[in-house]
Amino acid sequence: MTGAHHVVVVGAGFGGLETVHQLAGAPVEITIVDRRNHHLFQPLLYQAATASLAPSEIAWPIRHLFRRRSDVTTLLASVESIDKEARQLQLGDGSTLRYDTLVLATGARHAYFGHDAWEPFAPGLKTLEDATTIRGRILLAFEEAEREDDEAKRAALLTFVIVGGGPTGVELAGAIAELAHATLPGDFRRIDTRRARIVLIEAGPRVLPAFAEDLSSYAQDSLEQLGVEVMLGQPVSECHADGVVFGGERLAAVTILWAAGVQSSPAAQWLDAPADKVGRLKAEPDLTVPGHPEIFAIGDAAIVLRPDGQPVPGIAPAAKQEGAYVAKVIRARLHGAPAPSSFHYKHAGDLATIGKRRAVIDFGWIKLKGALAWWLWGFAHIYFLIGVRNRLSVAINWLWIYARDQRGARLITWWGGEVEGTAPFPRGEKAGDSSRERAPRV
Ligand SMILES: Cc1cc2nc3c(=O)[nH]c(=O)nc-3n(C[C@H](O)[C@H](O)[C@H](O)COP(=O)(O)OP(=O)(O)OC[C@H]3O[C@@H](n4cnc5c(N)ncnc54)[C@H](O)[C@@H]3O)c2cc1C
Repeated sequence: MTGAHHVVVVGAGFGGLETVHQLAGAPVEITIVDRRNHHLFQPLLYQAATASLAPSEIAWPIRHLFRRRSDVTTLLASVESIDKEARQLQLGDGSTLRYDTLVLATGARHAYFGHDAWEPFAPGLKTLEDATTIRGRILLAFEEAEREDDEAKRAALLTFVIVGGGPTGVELAGAIAELAHATLPGDFRRIDTRRARIVLIEAGPRVLPAFAEDLSSYAQDSLEQLGVEVMLGQPVSECHADGVVFGGERLAAVTILWAAGVQSSPAAQWLDAPADKVGRLKAEPDLTVPGHPEIFAIGDAAIVLRPDGQPVPGIAPAAKQEGAYVAKVIRARLHGAPAPSSFHYKHAGDLATIGKRRAVIDFGWIKLKGALAWWLWGFAHIYFLIGVRNRLSVAINWLWIYARDQRGARLITWWGGEVEGTAPFPRGEKAGDSSRERAPRV
C-alpha cells in the first residue's frame, strides 16, 4: 500500500467495473473484490443455457481486464460482513480488508417468493454454473426421452416449463423452442423433438410487462408462432421434481426453469441499513448509504428513486451509470470540489429477443419489433461485449445459427462422474450438491 486513498469496490459486475474504469488516473489505490474470477455478461446468459454460446464467450477474467492498471489490485474473495466503524471488510478466508471509500456493487439473485425448496427442481439463471446446469438439464431431457419407452414419461421429458414472462423467461422459451424445433430434429431417431412442449407460465396478464402493450402482444404472438404455449394470469402454486401446479392443474414436466423474482445480495444486512422488501439497500440520492458518506451502494444491490418516484430499473445500463456517477463523486471529494448533483438516471430503452428475426425494442419515443429490432438487438449486444475475439466469435456463432439453425455449444458437462444408467446429475439436486462432486469441468 502506498498510503493513497484506498477505494474498495466489491463486485465486478456492470456497476463495479464501471466505477473502476471511471477512476482511471485518479489519485487513489483501488482493490476490486469478487467471489468469482470473472465478469459475466448476464444479458447473454440465456444463450449459454440454451447451447447457442459457450460460457467463455460471455465472461472475462477480472484480473486480465485490469492487467494494464497498476493502481488496481484484484482479489478473488467473498465478502462476509462489514465493520463500518473500523472501516474494514471481513473476507471468507477470515482475513480483513480496510477501506477509505467502499463501493458495494454485489448485485442480486433470483428468488422463489418464499418457496426456496423449489430451487432444486426449478433452477434459475444468474451464474455460469446456473447456465451450464440448465443447458445440461435441457439436453439430458432429450437424451432420456430417446431411451424412454413409456409414452407418459417421454411426454414429461419433452415438456419444458419456464416460470416467469419477463425478458429472461421470454428469451429462454424462444431459444428452447428453436433448439427443439429447428436444431435438434435431425439428431434423434426414436423421438421427434419437434413435438416437445415449451410452456411459459406468467402470473401477470401479459409477457414483458415493462414494455408497451403492443410489444408484449407481438412477443406473445411470436412465441406462439415458435410453438411456445403461453399461460397468463396463473401463478405457479407448486413445483416438484416431476412437474408444476398452476391454475389448479398439474402439468407433468421434468425440466422446469425459474425466471421470476429477484432477491438482492445482503449488502444492506451487512450494514444494518434500510432495505426494501427484496433486500435492496435504500440509497441516498447521491448513492451513499444513509449515515455513511464513505460507503456507496449501486446497481442491483441498491434501490434509488427517480424524480417521478419510480425506482431506477435493475438493468445493466443503470448499474453502469451509477458506477460512473460514484467515480465522479469520489474524484470531486479528493479534489475538494463541490459534489455533483444527485444521481440522475437516463433510460435508453428496453430490449428483448424472442427468437431468430424476432425482437422488441422500446425506446419510449420509438418502438420497434421484428427483424429490424432483432438486428439492432444483435449489434447492440456485440458492441457491449468485451474484447475483439469475443465479439467476432459471438457474431460468427449467431450468423451460423441464423443460416443453419445449428447451435455449437451442445455439451452436457457435469460436476463429477459420467452417465451411469440414469442422469449423472439427478434432477432435484443443485450444482455442487452431488456427493460425487469433483472439480468443475465447464
Ligand atoms: C439472466 C439475466 C439476463 C439479464 N438480461 C439483461 C438485459 O438483457 N439487459 C440489461 O440491461 N440487463 C439485464 N440483466 C440485468 C443485469 O445483468 C443486472 O442489472 C446487472 O448485472 C447489475 O449489475 P451489478 O453490477 O449491480 O451486479 P452484477 O452484474 O450482478 O455483479 C455483481 C457482482 O458481485 C459479486 N458478488 C456478489 N456478492 C459478493 C460477495 N459477497 N463477495 C464478493 N463478490 C460478490 C458477484 O460475483 C458479481 O460479479 C439480466 C440479468 C440476468 C440474471
